Amino acid sequence: MIFNFGSINIDYTYRVPYFVRPGETLESGDYNIGLGGKGVNQSLAIARAKGRVSHWGRVSSLDAWVTSELESAGVGVKDVELTPEPSGHAIIQIDALGENAILLFSGANHGFTQEKMTALIAQTAPGDTILIQNECNGLDQLIPLAVSHGCKVIFNPAPMTSKVSSLPLDQCELLFFNRTEAAALLEMPVESSAADLLRRCKESLGDVEVVLTLGSEGAWYQRSSETLFQSALKVKAIDTTAAGDTFVGYFLAARQAGLKPSQCLQRATAAAALAVQKRGAASSIPMAEEVDRLMC
Ligand code: ATP
Repeated sequence: MIFNFGSINIDYTYRVPYFVRPGETLESGDYNIGLGGKGVNQSLAIARAKGRVSHWGRVSSLDAWVTSELESAGVGVKDVELTPEPSGHAIIQIDALGENAILLFSGANHGFTQEKMTALIAQTAPGDTILIQNECNGLDQLIPLAVSHGCKVIFNPAPMTSKVSSLPLDQCELLFFNRTEAAALLEMPVESSAADLLRRCKESLGDVEVVLTLGSEGAWYQRSSETLFQSALKVKAIDTTAAGDTFVGYFLAARQAGLKPSQCLQRATAAAALAVQKRGAASSIPMAEEVDRLMC
């Protein structure tokens, strides 16, 4: 089982002719509510990849539909807490050119207490895997707690913030970065080569496993002296939202099933290639059967 300590966001998406200006009231003719947040996207990706995942999260009791939706997708929701605080949510405007402007409110995602985290970790067994992203509070407490309990921590430090560099990353088992995240954390130019980024990763993080995704340029895996590269599939990308989350979820489900890192890279790459050809976040994450068809 992968325990995903992850954000739950509700995306309110409005199509608008242009982004609303200061002091203006703008009418939108098209409105959609969907599930989002990196945490939820990654839980859904693991479940759609036929992996076993339980989500540790917080969402307002007014949005209990979220737990039903996750559960029907195969995500464990026993530890999704219904809260009096508002849910994390994003107000997304999409203009006539397809550009977006996003207002994010973390809400319940930032309400984890030390007591709650201790209770979550207490139900794990040594060797269990805990997946985290950077959209919930308390990571500085959760990572050492998980490690001292013998859990394997897998961290996708997205979105990257300055607090990530103060976290005990060398205690993690596996880190997922995209190019901007790696460059920011390693204090290197964003145009650095993959080889330079990976070399610096090894210098700063030792033998921690690293997956570095580079969008349409493919993805790298590094562990000790082993380095693997997988090129991205050549497809017409129309919306890369959740490509990274799809990649993480499919990689981890393949790893859980005992596949080798090279096979995990291949499966994650195929799944992400399908995701970029569909609009939306959670709705663009493919089902395992679609990935199987693409790979055969
Ligand atoms: P996002 O934040 O958009 O969800 P990310 O920045 O975390 O994604 P990327 O490195 O952009 O992550 O993409 C993750 C993976 O998705 C890549 O390694 C690749 O396999 C796939 N991918 C992304 N963009 C494309 C593309 N244009 N064509 C094919 N595959 C792509």
